[in-house]
Amino acid sequence: MIILKTSKEIELQAEACKIVADILSAIRETAKSGVTTKELDSMAEGLTGKYGATPAFKGVKARGPYIPFPAVICASVNDEVIHGIPSDKPLEDGDILSVDFGVKYKGFYGDSAVTIPIGDVAEETRELLEVTEESLARAIKKSIAGNRLSDISHAVQSYVESKGYSVVRAFVGHGIGRSLHEEPQIPNFGAPGRGVRLKVGMVIAIEPMVNEGTHIVDVLDDGWTAVTQDGKMSAHFEHTVAITKNGPIVLTKV
Ligand code: MG
Ligand code: MG
Repeated sequence: MIILKTSKEIELQAEACKIVADILSAIRETAKSGVTTKELDSMAEGLTGKYGATPAFKGVKARGPYIPFPAVICASVNDEVIHGIPSDKPLEDGDILSVDFGVKYKGFYGDSAVTIPIGDVAEETRELLEVTEESLARAIKKSIAGNRLSDISHAVQSYVESKGYSVVRAFVGHGIGRSLHEEPQIPNFGAPGRGVRLKVGMVIAIEPMVNEGTHIVDVLDDGWTAVTQDGKMSAHFEHTVAITKNGPIVLTKV
């Protein structure tokens, strides 16, 4: 069931999303060559506490016999697509770091992700980031009441593939509200004009994951980290978006 939010509820959810945006900005400024993703995780945890919010991902249960997610941020480097676990390995010049972060605040969740270039990044890697971010912008423009769900999906896939990249199939975006993951699921691929009709009051997390090479991903033995099967780079951008009578509002905008 898709849970529609009142404008009052969207105002509350916007507060959670603003906290997410502020903390992601701080992480973006701190993520540099020599810094570890565990250090970034500690920083995010400290800031989340300062805001009086609760981290959204820490303790999320895994499928199968794996440990619950052990960190506040997902930190996915280079060929890691999503759900990377923060580590003691310092970031290096030329890396890309995808940080996915969410909080719960006043009963509502916010969820957002950015991919950050570390130092001097290869030109083709920079383009991968630009294309992924632009595909999200195009998807947000389709998040209008009366459109169909897959109009969002198609906006991502058609743009990404026109640039020679691939979209991950194994993970998708989602509705978001009093739960981190609500219906509907939002794939980043598909023909337009299908699925539910978008309505005023829907709040969705749109999150294209874009690969340089194959769209196929594997999950590592930690039960969490998704990596590209061919070892090529992957980027991830995400925003929480409210569908309103005045069009889409990006709640996690910096
Ligand atoms: Mg996320
Ligand atoms: Mg999400």
